Amino acid sequence: MRLCDAHLHLQDPRLAPWLESGLAELAALGIDGAVVNGTHEADWNDVANLAARLTWVVPSYGLHPWQVGKRSDGWLRDLKHRIKSDPAAAVGEVGLDRSILTPSTFHGNHPASPGPPSMVDQIDVLRVQLALAAEHNRAASIHCVRAWAEMKSILATSLLPPRGVLLHAYSGPAALVSALLDKGAYFSFNGYFLRPRFQERLKVFAALPSDRILVETDAPSLAPPDTLAGFRSVESTSGRTLNHPANLLPTVRELAALRRVSVLRQLLEAILQRLGVRLLGRHGLDLHAR
Ligand SMILES: [Zn+2]
Repeated sequence: MRLCDAHLHLQDPRLAPWLESGLAELAALGIDGAVVNGTHEADWNDVANLAARLTWVVPSYGLHPWQVGKRSDGWLRDLKHRIKSDPAAAVGEVGLDRSILTPSTFHGNHPASPGPPSMVDQIDVLRVQLALAAEHNRAASIHCVRAWAEMKSILATSLLPPRGVLLHAYSGPAALVSALLDKGAYFSFNGYFLRPRFQERLKVFAALPSDRILVETDAPSLAPPDTLAGFRSVESTSGRTLNHPANLLPTVRELAALRRVSVLRQLLEAILQRLGVRLLGRHGLDLHAR
């Protein structure tokens, strides 16, 4: 079977000790597609290097909301150049995150940073990146945490790429889904949601149309619960448990169970999803032309 991870961070330095053995493992498992998302200027070259080395990597470049405060004066020029010069490149990870406005939350992940970026800054940076995605008709991979009112308004009032946008690890309200579908959104399911407290999110994914669901790991982040058989972790150098990219397979299995379809059918759908991601990236076709 051939599967594509709609959103992860293979370039993340925390995966570096695992990378060489891990890539061979992914190939053996039939995972041979991945949209690799950069998050800030300093990791965009690492994404480009992975895409140059691995034909199955769709490179995606963007400024993550957590990284907005660290952007240089030339960040947008660099981003535009990368998008224009590589027709396969997507835009992401971009988005909004209200949870980081609490300095203690933000500093937990960014101890050296002066402080979290304001919502105003996050919105400005998101808008300009969505405009770039729309101008070049590239998929945008969107992160949104506790900022759905703002996200709804931005998506309603912005020009979006005709081929669609991806709401990665969708955590928004069920009531927003139909408006997002109308705007051409895709939704990627993450195994992190397989916890009892996320029942409402699971209901959203149980009800989505199958041609709008992708599957992702967000590795090395969003590790699934280790209580579920089949999920694996990568041990980081600091001893922290990281999400293993091979968790795409058990995530597909659990999504199939959630949607009450056989794993075989879900895998077939996943192949279509892989095609969808190709459409989102490397092969430059238009999802809406189907
Ligand atoms: Zn991510």
